[in-house]
Amino acid sequence: MKLIVATFNQGKVKEIKAMLENFDEVLSLKDIGFEKEAIEDGKTFLENATKKALFYYKELKEKYPNFYFLADDSGLEVEALDGKPGVYSARYAGEKARDKDNIQKLLEEMKDIPFDKRDANFNCTMVLVYPNGEKIHKEGKCYGKIAFSPRGENGFGYDPIFLTSESNYQKTMAELSKEEKNLISHRRKALEEIKNELKR
Ligand code: IMP
Repeated sequence: MKLIVATFNQGKVKEIKAMLENFDEVLSLKDIGFEKEAIEDGKTFLENATKKALFYYKELKEKYPNFYFLADDSGLEVEALDGKPGVYSARYAGEKARDKDNIQKLLEEMKDIPFDKRDANFNCTMVLVYPNGEKIHKEGKCYGKIAFSPRGENGFGYDPIFLTSESNYQKTMAELSKEEKNLISHRRKALEEIKNELKR
């Protein structure tokens, strides 16, 4: 089986490639030199992931007729903020916001929320389009709490303030090694579900 990972985020491509050891060929948009970007204006992770997967399938199916297309949309959902920042995770502090800016905005909004009410989860919704145009979708979640200040150097996005339930809220995602994060991540869980579906 051959697959195109429909994202420009090289961090995600690396994570996904490391988890797809059984595919004959896994290519990213960068690998094939494709530069057009899909519009992400959906209100849910599923809407956005579907838009991305179908956009690249339609653009590329003639040139890559036997390929599957995989797209994902992901973000952080904080319970005390009714699921915010959600689909706006990447641009929570504005269109050109850096990870640091988004973290700062979130911590400021949550400064009076006590530890036991700081539950959150990372969500990843993946859509896989088959070479014949059929599609499936799967969701993966990873649970934790929002810390009061950032810690750790690894990962990206909100990793430095996400205390993982697996560490009993002692370690942020950014304090885990790449391998440790890949074992528990929302992307890992969504991808495992997709792989199980493909085996069936
Ligand atoms: P998108 O799926 O590329 O739209 O990513 C949305 C945003 O969610 C990213 O820019 C990050 O801010 C956040 N995000 C998604 N996955 C992760 C993760 O594994 N760790 C930390 N932040 C994440």
